[in-house]
Amino acid sequence: MTTKKVDFIIVGQGLAGSCLALQLLFRKKRVLIIDRIRGNSATRVAAGLFNPITGRQMMKTWMADTLFPYLHSFYREAEKFLQSNFFFPMPLYRPFVSVEEQNEWMGRSEDPMFSNFIESLHTDSVFDHQVKNPFGGLLLKQCGYIDTQLFLTALRKQLQRIDSLLDEDINEQHLEITPQVIRYKEWQAEKIIYCTGASNTSNSFFSWLPIRPLKGETLALETTEPVEIIYNRGIYVVPNLWKAGATYTREETPHVTEEGRLELMQKLDELVAFNYNIIGQQWGFRPTTPDRRPILGSHPVHEQIAIFNGLGTKGVSLAPYFSEELVHWLENGTPLNQLVDINRYKSLFSKST
Ligand SMILES: Cc1cc2nc3c(=O)[nH]c(=O)nc-3n(C[C@H](O)[C@H](O)[C@H](O)COP(=O)(O)OP(=O)(O)OC[C@H]3O[C@@H](n4cnc5c(N)ncnc54)[C@H](O)[C@@H]3O)c2cc1C
Repeated sequence: MTTKKVDFIIVGQGLAGSCLALQLLFRKKRVLIIDRIRGNSATRVAAGLFNPITGRQMMKTWMADTLFPYLHSFYREAEKFLQSNFFFPMPLYRPFVSVEEQNEWMGRSEDPMFSNFIESLHTDSVFDHQVKNPFGGLLLKQCGYIDTQLFLTALRKQLQRIDSLLDEDINEQHLEITPQVIRYKEWQAEKIIYCTGASNTSNSFFSWLPIRPLKGETLALETTEPVEIIYNRGIYVVPNLWKAGATYTREETPHVTEEGRLELMQKLDELVAFNYNIIGQQWGFRPTTPDRRPILGSHPVHEQIAIFNGLGTKGVSLAPYFSEELVHWLENGTPLNQLVDINRYKSLFSKST
């Protein structure tokens, strides 16, 4: 059996593994991805939304000033590299819930901390044939969505073309780890990086990390309404993909639920003013961490085994920037941002051994 040499082996082709693989391919590195498609993996069911101002309190998301400009250039470059269109910048409209919220935002919208992300502020209802917004709302910029299925498929095809994909679950019995090289079947690499999302518990190197599944359900809609804005309040509706979501629960039942459907239908009716039919429902598990930050870095004992995980609810905006940070660390030893460094959980490893 001839040995196939690559620089890195990546396990898992969700957003984490895909962005990491692209960063390496952009730099002309050789990679092997080991991934078996799971229909319910987070990336495959995600709505693909990126939005810098989120949540009930409408907070600016962590590192938005860095992550958002970066993700725009990254996905554009990825589209060119893969010759596929999956990146769709689009304004997002968030109706105000009350006059108080409207007043608050009239002040905040002048604040340079937010103004880069605000296209316009409306004190009266707009787009009211499509959205219920009696107090007006905020039209946000630097938002949009990626079609995650198209993104994964385009990369997968490219990996297949260059003989860089093993379509299987990793079988760790075939993994040989030496200080110099990693061997897996006929492949040999300098390092292996686990990017297995919420399935992290089933690998033998990183199951001690506190990566917990956070279940989410979405609805698939059908409508003839020509919508060109993402509407978002309590629920988001992504046009073209026609996904509405999502729920957030710690229950780990691997199927869609009636409660999920009812919750989403109620929120949807409070938000949109157009007619639609529900034609499907999906579920998946987000890989979340207690401090809501990703986890990057190497195994406490095996330096050549690394992880990129914990993208939580915001993989679309976190994966591009932090995959580059991981590559700088892998290649040049550039220190990782301490807030994402696996070392913050090192004490859990000692307890587990
Ligand atoms: C319902 C829902 C909606 C969401 N909407 C959004 C959104 O709008 N915007 C946003 O930014 N984020 C969203 N998210 C979160 C986002 O999906 C995640 O942050 C992100 O997809 C996580 O990517 P990942 O690569 O870490 O994990 P995953 O997508 O789970 O990928 C892991 C990959 O590893 C493979 N794998 C696992 N174990 C093995 C093994 N042993 N061998 C080989 N392969 C293996 C899996 O098959 C999979 O392909 C949503 C999540 C859910 C569930």
